[in-house]
Amino acid sequence: MMLTDEQLAELARLVADTAAHEIDCDEMLARAAAFVEAVAAGPDDLPETLCVVAQHLRVCSECREEIDLLLEAHAPENGPDAS
Ligand SMILES: [Zn+2]
Repeated sequence: MMLTDEQLAELARLVADTAAHEIDCDEMLARAAAFVEAVAAGPDDLPETLCVVAQHLRVCSECREEIDLLLEAHAPENGPDAS
């Protein structure tokens, strides 16, 4: 069976969608440090590898708590020098 150009395009779209929307908790944790740094530096320009982390956080409250803790620890205004 041969795939038509149209079918290939559709497949590519489906694969891209899946990649963009689904990582598991282990992958989230593997990217957590990079994600926290990127968010702290300016969340407007997240690379796609980190957008999927954000996507995971929307559906996984456990990981969201984890990231919240990391962000809190990372935020300069919560440092020991804050008055
Ligand atoms: Zn998770």
